[in-house]
Amino acid sequence: MTTLTQQPWFDAYPQEIPVSISYEEKPLHYYLQRAAETFPEKTAFHFMGKEMNYKQVYDEALKLANQLRGLGVEPGDRVAIMLANSPQAVISYYGALLAGAVVVQTNPLYVEREIEHQLNDSQAKVMICLDLVYPRVAKVKEQTSLTHIIVTGIKDYLPFPKNMIYPFIQKKNTGIKVEISYSDTLLSFTKLIEEGRAAEIPLTINPKEDLALLQYTGGTTGPAKGVMLTHYNLTVNTQQCEEWMYKLKPGEEIVLAALPFFHVYGMTTVMNLSVRMGFNMIIMPKFDPKSILKAIEKHKATLYPGAPTMYIGLLNHPDLKKHDLSSIKACISGSAPLPVEVQSRFEAATGGQLVEGYGLTETSPVAIANLIWGRRKQGSIGIPWPDTEVKVLSAETGEEAGPEEVGELMIKGPQVMKGYWNQPEATAACFRDDWFLTGDMGYMDEEGFFYIVDRKKDMIIAGGFNIYPREVEEVLYEHEAVQEVCVIGVPDVYRGETVKAFIVKKEGMDVTEEELDQHCREYLASFKTPKYYEFREELPKTMVGKILRRVLVEEEREKQSGG
Ligand code: AMP
Repeated sequence: MTTLTQQPWFDAYPQEIPVSISYEEKPLHYYLQRAAETFPEKTAFHFMGKEMNYKQVYDEALKLANQLRGLGVEPGDRVAIMLANSPQAVISYYGALLAGAVVVQTNPLYVEREIEHQLNDSQAKVMICLDLVYPRVAKVKEQTSLTHIIVTGIKDYLPFPKNMIYPFIQKKNTGIKVEISYSDTLLSFTKLIEEGRAAEIPLTINPKEDLALLQYTGGTTGPAKGVMLTHYNLTVNTQQCEEWMYKLKPGEEIVLAALPFFHVYGMTTVMNLSVRMGFNMIIMPKFDPKSILKAIEKHKATLYPGAPTMYIGLLNHPDLKKHDLSSIKACISGSAPLPVEVQSRFEAATGGQLVEGYGLTETSPVAIANLIWGRRKQGSIGIPWPDTEVKVLSAETGEEAGPEEVGELMIKGPQVMKGYWNQPEATAACFRDDWFLTGDMGYMDEEGFFYIVDRKKDMIIAGGFNIYPREVEEVLYEHEAVQEVCVIGVPDVYRGETVKAFIVKKEGMDVTEEELDQHCREYLASFKTPKYYEFREELPKTMVGKILRRVLVEEEREKQSGG
């Protein structure tokens, strides 16, 4: 490996961040065990009035682990978790790991077909799910390898009745009554915990080989694939996080946990980091700007990792100015491009740093970031993390591209996945000589800072010209009336493809297509300016707030085919 000192980004490394880290080779759940010993009384999290300390969380996770063993879960077996952010999500994750199982995170918004695919592909033995999603799981259970389902309700960890809490958790489900008749195979989470034994289970784990997580990703060109992340991949990325955020103090920080734990971004940068460092997580079951603003002020949150749309949501909330957000030391934006305009406005509003990072499920997830306390460049995703190498593969020559030349980003580092579960061909296709091919197009500047231009597959080719939606979106975000935007390619008889922009206007503001066109023409070559505009109330998004471009593309495709 080329050492960091030989890399173009070396000069940007501050003294406080080690050139190379000496990683602990421990299982991921060791963090919780250590937190329970080091900070037994420290609050691990706060959830709508309920607090638990690290000792309590560890004890409950151990109880669950023993119960899972009693249900026949053996080391290496898969345990699926389908929960919104909640105390149970933390306890289930660590409980499954303490039993030696591999966690399979399942998005609570998944419909039956997606649940069935994930359960069958992973061959999960047990699933822990929210009562609200249980009816969907029950419908597919017989077609899967599940032997047991463990059900929990958000209210199980709260002091007040169900009907007070559900409207807040999931507006659409208000009033839905989920009747559950418990049996030998359908079990109550709270009962299992009440009756469990908090005894440690002897395990032999090889952190570099053994899986901690099967994290499903993709699915735009076929069913989702299970990314195999080892204990080492995840502990390494957590340790890299700690070094990168070197000013954060063990046992002292308050982390706003709005990113879902079932997504690898929230799992590593919020949950694993907090448990490793003894931080206090303020668990938010979903992203709701008003509650987030209140929570930051009330709990004096110091760290808030989020996605760009989360910061956009806060910035445009009418209550923004009413809240004191000055406790925030750092916000990290990842998972999608952070518009420069949003970054500047957010920093002006809070006084805290908002820096951009980049990663993928396959890299546990973070591989590149700007420095929170150090050099950063707007519009750039930053520089590679310690022990992480990044290079650009030129589309033209197939060789390493020079500075400023666009190509596909490739990554090598200890946080890179082991491969895709049961998919040797897909695994082989995304590696080239040990380098992971990201599928993202970008470039490096002379100083070693990287920039993403777009996903390889999102590039629009209009009349032979390449257009990256991101560039057009950046320009539209600069318009004062634009709150959110997503640009896609649509078929065009003359040019093959042309540009269409979906726009969400800021509340109380109006703008016409002509005005937006005029604005774009000022900053973009005419072949890049959108030919079509569509105004929407909102854009489809994932649970981390990433705009779902593919949903808009599919809708357009259906419209074109007369569907
Ligand atoms: P996921 O595996 O769901 O975390 O998605 C990974 C993808 O998110 C990457 O391949 C990128 O396309 C995108 N992504 C993540 N961070 C950024 C960023 N800072 N800028 C642009 N795209 C990003």
